[in-house]
Amino acid sequence: MRWTWRCLRLEDERMKRIVIATTSTGKGKELRARLASEWVIWTLQEAAQYWGEYPDVKEEGETFMENARGKAVAYSLWAKGEWVLADDSGLCVDALRGAPGVRSARYAGEPRDDGKNLELVLDQMRGVKNRAAAFYCALVLAKNGEVVAEVEGRCHGTLALSPRGTHGFGYDPIFIPEGYSETFGELPESVKARISHRAKALESMVEILKSI
Ligand code: IMP
Repeated sequence: MRWTWRCLRLEDERMKRIVIATTSTGKGKELRARLASEWVIWTLQEAAQYWGEYPDVKEEGETFMENARGKAVAYSLWAKGEWVLADDSGLCVDALRGAPGVRSARYAGEPRDDGKNLELVLDQMRGVKNRAAAFYCALVLAKNGEVVAEVEGRCHGTLALSPRGTHGFGYDPIFIPEGYSETFGELPESVKARISHRAKALESMVEILKSI
């Protein structure tokens, strides 16, 4: 037992540590699930034990990449010396001219409420035939306030007529990825982990993380 623990500790010390710059439990869970076998993952809360209270970073950019960059730079200035990975993502609906887009988290206003956001999209899409939509994810890696890498991923699909399923978070219960008839809320998490916008962005980011 002791020996196993010691091996794990040694492994931890050899592994690169990455601070995941998100307060979203759903995003954090998906990022951790992909990265935790190769890197030590810290949430902002875990990093706060060493660096003190984390800053409140406003998302005021016009693109997902701008917002992800802003978060990665700000949190990596706070957690000096750590690798920081920020995710900015959201849903873009063709018939709503790209909305909710970068406003996905607060589409129905403050405080952020996933249920209200999703209902607002469904309301605005009532009777609309063109239900094409896509999830976008921008991932930015930074250290000491410098951007080291940026990648993106997208997942095309259509919007359901009403929420279905309990998996995932955010708009997952109303998003049907291309090639499937179930929503991300209904599909097993293993499918989302393979085909989602975040999965695609992570695929590129993992290659970069392995090379630095
Ligand atoms: P932000 O990146 O913190 O601005 O928030 C992104 C918002 O987009 C979240 O609050 C979710 O509502 C939505 N979102 C991002 N990624 C996903 C996803 O994988 N599934 C469902 N909703 C998502």
